[in-house]
This record gives sequence, C-alpha cells and structure tokens, in this order.
Amino acid sequence: MEYEHVRETDPAVADALAGEVDRQRETLTMIASENHVSEAVMEAQSSALTNKYAEGYPGSRYYGGCEYADEVEQLAIDRAKELWGAEYVNVQPHAGSQANMAVYHAALEPGDKILSLDLSHGGHLSHGHPMNFAGKVYDVEHYEVDPDTGRFDFDEIEDHASEFEPDMLVTGFSAYPREVDWERFQAIADAVDAYHLADIAHITGLVATGAHPSPVGTVDFVTGSTHKTIRAGRGGIVMAREEYGDDIDSAIIPGMQGGPLMHNVAGKAVGFGEALNPAFDDYIDQVVENAQALGDRMQEHGLSLVSGGTDTHLVLCDLRDSHPDTTGKDVEEALEETGIVLNANTVPGETRSPFVASGIRAGTPALTTRGFDAEACREVADCIARVIDAPDDEGVREEVSADVDALVDRHPLY
Ligand SMILES: *Cc1c(COP(=O)(O)O)cnc(C)c1O
Repeated sequence: MEYEHVRETDPAVADALAGEVDRQRETLTMIASENHVSEAVMEAQSSALTNKYAEGYPGSRYYGGCEYADEVEQLAIDRAKELWGAEYVNVQPHAGSQANMAVYHAALEPGDKILSLDLSHGGHLSHGHPMNFAGKVYDVEHYEVDPDTGRFDFDEIEDHASEFEPDMLVTGFSAYPREVDWERFQAIADAVDAYHLADIAHITGLVATGAHPSPVGTVDFVTGSTHKTIRAGRGGIVMAREEYGDDIDSAIIPGMQGGPLMHNVAGKAVGFGEALNPAFDDYIDQVVENAQALGDRMQEHGLSLVSGGTDTHLVLCDLRDSHPDTTGKDVEEALEETGIVLNANTVPGETRSPFVASGIRAGTPALTTRGFDAEACREVADCIARVIDAPDDEGVREEVSADVDALVDRHPLY
C-alpha cells in the first residue's frame, strides 16, 4: 500500500494514510466491531465507481451510464441473498445506522413506539438513544439484561412489552456475548403485534456461516454493518421478507439518501463473494474458538466475564469484582500503550459514566484475520491480565509491549 498518487499531490494526507497502515500492522486490533478487509475489497472501494451517480436501483436509475453500477450492485444483492438466505436485500445504506433508519422509515411513523436494549446494556445509539435521531423521532423505551446473569430475562421483557405496546421491537446488540434466541423475541413481538427488527451488525459473519442462529425468516427486518465480522468494507445492509421490499427501497431513495456509495457497494460485492468461499466458514469458526480461548484464559487469571463466557466473537469483562478501583478507561489507555487496542465498555448495572465505564470489550475478528489461533489468543489474554493487574506500572507495560511486538511479527498483516 504505497498511495503513490496521494504522496505526489498531498504528502500530509499520504503520511497519515501510511501511518494508519503501520498502526494496523503493528498493533492488535481488538475492538470487537473492527476487522481488516482484503486488499481486493479495498481496491474495489477505491475504484472509479466513486465517480458515478446511480440513484435508483439496478435496471431503474435516474441517470444514464449505469450499466457497470448495475452489474456490481446486482452481484452484491445476489451474493447477500445467498449468504443470508434473505428474500429481499438492499445494499445501499451507507452504514448500519442508516440501515436501521431505513427500516424505521419504512415501517413506522414519527412518534411510534420502539422497545430496544439500553445502550449501557449492549444496545446501539441508533436503537433510540436520546441524542440519536431515533430517540428524537420515536417514542423509545429500553429493556435491559439481567445484571446477575448478563442474559435476557424474557418474562420481564414480555411484561415490559405488554405494558408499553411498542410498534417495533428491536433486537441485535453491540456488546452481548451470547447466542440470541430470535424465536423467543419474536414471540414477544407477536404478542403485542409489533414489527421485529434484528440488527445483526456485529454478527453478520457468524450468521452467514451458521455459527450463530439466523433471524432471517423469523423476524420482519434484519439489518447489519458490512465492515464488522463479514469483512466487506464499510457500509450497511437491509434484509427483509419480499413483502417489505418496495417500502425499504423507497425509504432509502428518495426517503433518506441520494446517490448510493457505489464504490462501497463494489466492496460489498467483493467481500460477500469472499464470504461465500468455504474458507470463510473456517475463519468464523476460528473467530469464535479464539474468543473462547481468550475468555477462558482471562477467567483463569481471575477476571470476571459478563455471562461467564462467550458464544460469539467478543468477551465483555466486568472489572468491578476483581479490580473495583480500576476503570475500563484506565485499562483501555494502559493497553493502548502496549499496542493492544480495545475499548472501555459499560457493563450491565453500570455505575460509572459511559466514558469511563467498568468493563472492557475485546473481540477476535481482526486478530483471526491476521492468523491468530487459540494459543496466540491465550498469550494475548496473558498480556491483558498483566496490564489490568498493574495499569500504572511502566515496567509491566514495556514487557507486554515487547510480547505484542513478537505476536505482531509472527502474524503479519497486508
Ligand atoms: C456497529 C453497530 C451498528 C451500526 O454502526 P455503523 O457504524 O453505523 O455501521 C448498528 N447496530 C449495532 C448493534 C452495532 O453494533
């Protein structure tokens, strides 16, 4: 990745771009929503399609010259249908948040009621946080996870739903390490005659291979980001039953977007194509095995995991039992100095501000992309545990930093 043209015309930006490549190479990306896409996906994303206006849909555009845009978008749609078994797919949302916006826009009126998971319990801003458009446009209440088990108390959510009578139930989460029971949530939506949106942003890849049960076919709408576990570059996607297709199409354009980011749609097509390869199933199985190895070793070090472990690509560590005076932010900052990049995260029953938080969230998708196996992830867990025990100890940070360098050298990226 030389960026030679940028270097020629704009050295300042070229330096930053090259710096970012080096940063990704030299550090361990453990932010659970991040990943490294292939160079093929990046090439598609930086293609000449960035120049093309393709308002509309394949075969029915407002402007001429869309024959290649049509080809690319149709490939993305067909591959997505194959990956997730969806009747209807729209690959135009700019990101996961816009995919959610499209579904709300298609199915709800302003002021309608949404029931979703609280952000501090693992929900997402676009599920109706007061500072987000969804919180301003709709009437939102939140359910929570049980602070003792870290899992859902479905009877309680059902009672909440029957009291609130939402027009839409939103499921799918940013920091929930366990398998989600879509059928049980669907029964709650059915009982109050609500639409059900399952936002699988984080677990698109796991759902595609069957490593996590699929909500497609059970719920009304499924949304996702395409840059997390599916590795298809930055973007969003909506899937639904055929009957909702026209409403979603027009919610996106003319409803909320102009021209689709066709270069990103090309990235999606390439990334989805890669995910249809059987090697992607092995990748996802390894992601989950790695998260379990990481979590098990963290627990052996005396750290507590929300729900006691993971079924997915991430672990959520609650520091309050083992290190009550250490915040998630303390750990995030100390680890970043060693080259391990993850994020402070709120935990169920959080008492600190979300900027400080009492937990950390760690994911294995990006490590697995660069070839980490379970044993390497146990080494990473050892590093994390040592820093959590002594976040202020510079000597420890230096030792861990050397271990990170060795791990990085053994698993080259790009
Ligand atoms: C990441 C995420 C999104 C979408 O985020 P974008 O940055 O807009 O792609 C939506 N919902 C959940 C649950 C997420 O974790």
